[in-house]
Order: sequence, then C-alpha cells, then structure tokens
Amino acid sequence: IDEATKRRRVLLKLSGEAFGGGQLGVNPDVVSQIAREIAEAVDRVEIAIVVGGGNFFRGAELSQRGMDRGRADYMGMLGTVMNSLALQDFLEQAGAATRVQSAISMTQVAEPYIPRRAVRHLEKGRVVIFGAGAGLPYFSTDTVAAQRALEIGATEVLVAKNGVDGVYTADPRVDPDATKLDHLTYNDALQKGLKVVDSTAFSLCMDNGIDMRVFGMEPAGNVTRALLGDEMGTLVTA
Ligand code: UDP
Repeated sequence: IDEATKRRRVLLKLSGEAFGGGQLGVNPDVVSQIAREIAEAVDRVEIAIVVGGGNFFRGAELSQRGMDRGRADYMGMLGTVMNSLALQDFLEQAGAATRVQSAISMTQVAEPYIPRRAVRHLEKGRVVIFGAGAGLPYFSTDTVAAQRALEIGATEVLVAKNGVDGVYTADPRVDPDATKLDHLTYNDALQKGLKVVDSTAFSLCMDNGIDMRVFGMEPAGNVTRALLGDEMGTLVTA
C-alpha cells in the first residue's frame, strides 16, 4: 500500500459500562447503535477497538467484597470477551468485516492476540477487536487501549465516554464549577489527579508520545465523527 492511499489508523476504547446501558450484561440496542456508527467510518479509517468489561465485573470491586484480586480480575477480563463478541456480531450485521483477538487463549471464540496479524486485518479493512484486556490482573482496559495503540502503530487513542463529553477541571457530577478542557497535557492530568482515564494509561501515552482524545458517545453520530478525526472532546498530548 503506497503512502498516498494509506488510511489513518486509530484505536477506539469503548467502556463496558456503555454496553450494559447502565445494567449488568449487554444491551443489544446500545451495542447495535455503536456498531452502526463504527461501520459508518470503516472504509475511511483503520479501526482497532478495546472494549471494557465494567458492565459485568470489575476486579477491584469484587476483591473489596472478599474475592481474590487476581481471580476477580480474570473474571473482569472474561467479561470484556463477551462484550467483544457482542460488538463483533452487531458490526457484522452492520456490514463490517471483523476479527476478535483475545489476550487469553480461547481459540473457539477468538484468535489469539498476534499484533502483526492484527495489522494485516486492519490493512484489509477489517475492524479488529481486542478482548481479554492485557491478560494480566491489576491492569485496566484503558491501559490496554494505550498499549495496543502503540504496538499496532495507531496515531491516536480515542476514548469514548458515556455521561461526560471530555476532560473537566474536576468531576462535573460532583463539582458544579467544573469546566471542560479542550486540551491538556498528560502531566497536567496526572498532577491534578484527573481520573477520567486511569493514571497508568496516561503515563504510558505520555512516555511514548501518542495522543489521546476523550469524547462523549452522545449524541448519536459522535463515535463516527471521532473516528473520522473530528476535533471534539478533549485532546491530551505529551
Ligand atoms: N482487567 C484486568 N486486566 C486487563 C484488563 C481488564 O484485570 O488487562 C479486568 C479488571 O478487573 C477490570 C475489568 O477487567 O476491572 C474490566 O475492565 P475495565 O474496568 O477496564 O472496564 P471498563 O471500566 O472500561 O468498562
């Protein structure tokens, strides 16, 4: 593929919470809407996706209630695989070719994570969904999004949020004086303790000089716009 026809490559992070529509499990209406928005952009941009699992389990929460942290984190990772399969299904219904790659081997449902093969899929116009996080307890899918973006050579990490449309000076649900920032540096985010994205993800992006855009999934159309490079939400840079 020559440089002129080369498409932008992005990594989209979707929260598991969005998939549940506020409840445990997968809400098909929500996932199909997201899938249609992704399918809309697929012929213009190479799209890799990391899906969270907060609609099923969060390891830290389960461990606070008495479970072993490592085991609880593996349950969390398995939740991300279910979300990945749901997204794959609705993406295919929307006409997009897809592959799921899992960081935990389960070859009946997903390919193993093979970065170079993921890149091939992207070049062929397939959407690649990375499931099972990093396969490592004590990590979050935000951090995995940053790591996968770096490893496959994406130019930016697009973090889709529900309920908030960017990075604020403080938590807008708590502090009525919080204002939205158009741009900030990873250092600012870390120093101010802004928690929209976890600190490990911020520092990995900072150390490796990759940009991150945090944006709101609502209203409808926002995911497509973000994939196509619209300057929305908050841009975080090194
Ligand atoms: N998780 C993990 N290692 C990873 C990715 C995820 O242990 O590499 C577990 C962790 O318990 C986490 C859960 O999977 O709480 C779900 O992921 P996350 O909380 O990032 O999902 P989101 O908040 O985006 O829905």
